[in-house]
Amino acid sequence: MYLADSWDFVRNNLNTCPNAMSLQAFSPSLNATVIRALPCNQWSCRWCIRIKKGRIIRKVTDARPNRLLTLTVDPKLYSDPRDAFDQTRRQLPRLFTTLRKTYDSIEYFRVVEVTRAGWPHYHCCVRSGYLPHFQVKAAWEQLTGATIVDLRQIKRTSQAITYVTKYLHKLSNIPWTARHMSYSRKFFHKDPEKPPADHDYKNIHVVKAHPVNCITLDRHVTHFEPLKNGWVKLTDTYDRGF
Ligand SMILES: [Zn+2]
Repeated sequence: MYLADSWDFVRNNLNTCPNAMSLQAFSPSLNATVIRALPCNQWSCRWCIRIKKGRIIRKVTDARPNRLLTLTVDPKLYSDPRDAFDQTRRQLPRLFTTLRKTYDSIEYFRVVEVTRAGWPHYHCCVRSGYLPHFQVKAAWEQLTGATIVDLRQIKRTSQAITYVTKYLHKLSNIPWTARHMSYSRKFFHKDPEKPPADHDYKNIHVVKAHPVNCITLDRHVTHFEPLKNGWVKLTDTYDRGF
């Protein structure tokens, strides 16, 4: 337990995004107020994006993709990049539906990337059996008119991590869409059932203030204890008979 006499200390220990709000509750067993940060989770937030990318990389790696597929669009066929995205984005699931008719069990995770000129193209991590390049190319061309399709095998999991990391790091805040990613229904393995929460918190509610402000606004001096479950226990000094 620490005496939060320095706000720098509080800030460092409540290390979260600058736009976070707070979740506040009361723990009868601890007889104390507990708070937790609620990060904003926006693509435009540098702090949140770092966490989000790490999580996605882990999940995609666990899904063991064995192919990498790049699908382009033909800029000549659209009035602007957004139009190209709107028109081709929906063709992507159709492509996989078409391919599944011949080659069963194909699952994918895709991210959109924009070229220097602003045009979208798609990178997909694919998990499938035998899948010939010419068939994928023919199907994509029929759906979108685009002829440039790249399909290669991922030999090792580490290779998949490298690709996914590269694409996610290039993923900028594309102004015309928030649909940076999508995936087929069975791409990700189901999460094992979550263990029950090990707390008895009552009156859990959202406070529209950053966790740091929750402490600084309400309290003069606070005992501040990070708990193992990600929450922080607060104890006002006047509660404790100082
Ligand atoms: Zn954030």
